[in-house]
Amino acid sequence: MLLWFYGTPMIPVLLMGVLMHNPKIFYPLNNKVLEGVIGVVAIVSTYIWAAMLVGWGIMWLFLLPIIIVAFGATTFVSSPLFPSAPCARCLKCRNIETMNFVDSVYDHEYETWLRETEYVKKISEKKRKFQTWNEVTWRRGDGSTYRTSENVQNHTQIITTSLYDDYKVLYNVKVYQNNYSCVVCGQHEHNFSEKYKELDRKYMGTHTETTTEEV
Ligand SMILES: [Zn+2]
Repeated sequence: MLLWFYGTPMIPVLLMGVLMHNPKIFYPLNNKVLEGVIGVVAIVSTYIWAAMLVGWGIMWLFLLPIIIVAFGATTFVSSPLFPSAPCARCLKCRNIETMNFVDSVYDHEYETWLRETEYVKKISEKKRKFQTWNEVTWRRGDGSTYRTSENVQNHTQIITTSLYDDYKVLYNVKVYQNNYSCVVCGQHEHNFSEKYKELDRKYMGTHTETTTEEV
């Protein structure tokens, strides 16, 4: 793989990824806008590079890996900008990786019934063999026709039926608020997490599932 061949159009995007670590450079741009700008830069530079390569006589087919590499590199560079709580790039001071976990505080709790299944055993396993083919009609010079079978393929399928137990399970769900704070500017963000505790379990019966696997 030629690094320059795939890498050259990504130079502006990678440069932006490096500059992003200095909070002052893109300070006016919030995460969503900066992500959009990086996307546009990636598309424009990939397009210009592709047009140049075609101008030099490179076949279109070779451009597909360039687009895949460009997509991967752009996703990697933009990843600190993806919406999450807490955000990798501070929403206020624009520093990256400065949101620190502070504490986890109990918020509220509730009870909920959930359906669950448990695998019990395999009931049956059948093997099925068959052929597939395309039937092609040919026409001779004198107008008569004949048929041939093309692309004949042998298939083997394993059909498995399994038994499952069904339950209704009552859970107590405790919801916690996790707090984060930026070590540079003190910006606060939070998310929620849940802890499940089983309280009750009712047996509802069984069911079977059949899967077909081509081998
Ligand atoms: Zn901050």
